[in-house]
Amino acid sequence: MLIVMDHRATPEEIERVVETIGEMGYGAQPIPGRQRTAVGLVGNDGRVESARLEGLPGVREVIRVSKPYKQVSREWRDEDTLVDVGNGTVLGGREVVLMAGPCAVEGRDQILQIAAQVRDAGASVLRGGAFKPRTSPYSFQGLGEKGLELLALAREETGLAVVTEAVDSESVALVAEYADIVQIGARNMQNYPLLKRAGRAGKPVLLKRGMSATINELLLAAEYLLSAGNPNVILCERGVRSFDTQTRNLLDLTAVPLVKSLTHLPIVADPSHGTGVRTKVTPMARAAVAAGADGLVVEVHPDPPTALSDGAQSLYPEQFAELVAQCGPIAEAIGRSLASAVQRTT
Ligand code: PEP
Ligand code: MN
Repeated sequence: MLIVMDHRATPEEIERVVETIGEMGYGAQPIPGRQRTAVGLVGNDGRVESARLEGLPGVREVIRVSKPYKQVSREWRDEDTLVDVGNGTVLGGREVVLMAGPCAVEGRDQILQIAAQVRDAGASVLRGGAFKPRTSPYSFQGLGEKGLELLALAREETGLAVVTEAVDSESVALVAEYADIVQIGARNMQNYPLLKRAGRAGKPVLLKRGMSATINELLLAAEYLLSAGNPNVILCERGVRSFDTQTRNLLDLTAVPLVKSLTHLPIVADPSHGTGVRTKVTPMARAAVAAGADGLVVEVHPDPPTALSDGAQSLYPEQFAELVAQCGPIAEAIGRSLASAVQRTT
């Protein structure tokens, strides 16, 4: 961290900055310049309270040199983290993993049917919410524990791993009991008690980017999970709010290569929530694979017009099969391949 002094700062003001840094337990290194002096803070452990320095007389600005997050950074760990989700599927390696299924678990027949369909099309992970964070309290809230039981049944029948959302700290343990991956949704990305609890859940976590979250905020949210003891974190770009109303969100695919340069954690893309529009899902899935995403999260429903949530962005099963067929050659073109649950289970 660099504390840049105003050009009119007095030697006493510079000395006060040096002393304050010392009181905070760090080293101070004044760097006199022709125009102004800067003071380097040495030994930054990521916990420096910069506001204390910003408020001192004569301080012009405080510049962060090192990253505010630690364990998620490439400096902390250079090799890519591989997240094993339990059915032989690994995220973060050469294979691009397909996670697919309905927005919400709606019933036994629905989830068993769609699980078999997405598995046959090439998915390795079944998605489906049992606890749904809905914008309106009057919308379908999910089947709760019954939904988790149905997901477990679908896993048994198909060999797919299961990812499903925990919406509050109280339900994390229950969700972790049934799921192979605990999803933290966009609305909860900065729910710090939930992150701390999910960090102790003993299962990999799929952390979705908040709808107005910066990359720094996403990585700091992931830092909560790692610092609570969970190294198995998968990040997810699911679109951010923008000014255009033609799509539900703006799928920020620059986040994929950007995040991969900053962190060793895998990142997947969700073109369903990222666009909100069925016809735009496959093109953006192709683009996400081309951008280097380690996987895709795609909403697929056996009969989208009757879906209890997110029907407009859910693919028909045959559209998902086509998406997979189109993404395969794109993965190959960048030296990767699509993971296939079917090959493993047969
Ligand atoms: C979901 O995956 O169904 C979901 C609610 O996603 P998000 O948190 O990204 O809105
Ligand atoms: Mn959804």
